[in-house]
Amino acid sequence: MDIKLTQMFSNVSLNLGIKYKIISEYYPYKHIKNTARAKKGILYVRVSDKLKDAPPEIKEALAYILLSKIKGTRVAPRYKRTYNDFIHELIINEPSGIASGLNDPVGIYFNLEEIFYFINNNYFSNELSKPALRWSKKKAYRIFGRYDRAKNEIVISRILDDKKTPRFVIEYIMYHEMLHIKFGFTYKKGRRRVHTGQFKKEEEKFSFYTESINYLKKISGREKRSLF
Ligand SMILES: [Zn+2]
Repeated sequence: MDIKLTQMFSNVSLNLGIKYKIISEYYPYKHIKNTARAKKGILYVRVSDKLKDAPPEIKEALAYILLSKIKGTRVAPRYKRTYNDFIHELIINEPSGIASGLNDPVGIYFNLEEIFYFINNNYFSNELSKPALRWSKKKAYRIFGRYDRAKNEIVISRILDDKKTPRFVIEYIMYHEMLHIKFGFTYKKGRRRVHTGQFKKEEEKFSFYTESINYLKKISGREKRSLF
């Protein structure tokens, strides 16, 4: 049992007027998945261990989502939004999780240089200058792309260099990372912020935005039904 996590879930359950005693833990699910099961007056909560380092407000939002479901009441949209935004960033985001490796933009199925020029032409009026481009060495399945400002380099997870990957998915990640080049980052409350409101608005202009997100959710194992 994780004491801090249990405390948080217990507080939220008090707020929701739920009477169960709560036992919670982080669990090494293969994918991002969280569960709550009631048994003899005890509520057993398992939170994906991939959320262990998430900020407290994310865990709190998750607690509201899971416990509202147990209670059978509607969860406040802001909790869903908080949680989903965070998961979205986990999937797309770029903490330096991708190990450096090969330096070749030419994969087996996709050429990143070609995709860069295509996106630059279609979405940026060819205004961005080309950074270094390469596929990651490891097949990261949670972090699909990142932009390294210091190296001026876009890295895309090799797991997507696959004949099953729709081309628009690679294009979407390229587009996302190119938006980082365009927007840079801002600081808010001392924390670096890269996915600002403006960024997200621009990101949604990508033609296959929803399809791409859905595809990435699917291959990262985050299916909607297993989420809540
Ligand atoms: Zn990003």
